[in-house]
Amino acid sequence: MSKPRVIEHIHEIRQAVADVRASGKTIGFVPTMGFLHKGHLSLVRKSVTDNDITVVSIYVNPAQFAPGEDLSNYPRDLSNDLRLLAEEGIDYLFIPNNTEMYPDGFNSSVSVGNITERLCGESRPDHFRGVTTIVLKLLNIVQPENLYLGEKDFQQYLVINTMVTDFNLPVEVVSCPLVRESDGLAMSSRNKYLSADERKRALSLYQALKIVKSAFGQGETNPEVLRLLARQHILTFRGEPDYIEIADEDKLQPVQTVTSGNRLFLAVRFGNTRLIDNIRL
Ligand code: AMP
Repeated sequence: MSKPRVIEHIHEIRQAVADVRASGKTIGFVPTMGFLHKGHLSLVRKSVTDNDITVVSIYVNPAQFAPGEDLSNYPRDLSNDLRLLAEEGIDYLFIPNNTEMYPDGFNSSVSVGNITERLCGESRPDHFRGVTTIVLKLLNIVQPENLYLGEKDFQQYLVINTMVTDFNLPVEVVSCPLVRESDGLAMSSRNKYLSADERKRALSLYQALKIVKSAFGQGETNPEVLRLLARQHILTFRGEPDYIEIADEDKLQPVQTVTSGNRLFLAVRFGNTRLIDNIRL
């Protein structure tokens, strides 16, 4: 496969996609923060299959990190990312820097309502505003027909989907299934932070999801009972839950009785690393 064209500047990517559009081709877009793994690549692959041209962005967006979070040591490996993307046959890799995305005088943000206040929004209050602001900018720059997002970050997918609907953005949001390691740990760039011991203990997340799914399958519909099952399992492995919640898939509201299609959402710390995961019940 040939290497993608790597573009750092907004005016260049705009020109490139304008040429693509003028030739009547469709554009798929996969925004990422890099340090790519098979979860990211599943989105890329879907975009390459569905569209004539695929644009991937790698940008670690400062606006979605709070002070004290892992912005400065977020893992990066551009040359490996480039190699992986070349194998997938993407066309353009957009890697803007901070001055390109937030030039002097930048003074706007986009915020979505209620669903950003739940789950991750409770412990990371400004996070989703950072996400929607950068995604809106990227969508305006790339102007894709299709936007690919992973269900690993299910709340993020819902938030972006809400923004796209509310602002009538001319893009189709495509959600892609969560990809796991062979032992069940959800793939994440942040898994790199885990020590060998934390990596083993982090498996309790997936085990907790399976325990709850199986209890639900056997007829348990009380969310408190199900959440407690997950909590007990995770505590046994010295995970520190940030939240363990069962919510509906549309508004992320807590449910009184669990029904098919509700989701269990987890955010748990192992040492300094905060991991998220979710499963459809
Ligand atoms: P990130 O680089 O973490 O911002 O992720 C970029 C995109 O890849 C987001 O849409 C994520 O939901 C998606 N993604 C990350 N990890 C996974 C995974 N394990 N399975 C599926 N999609 C993922």
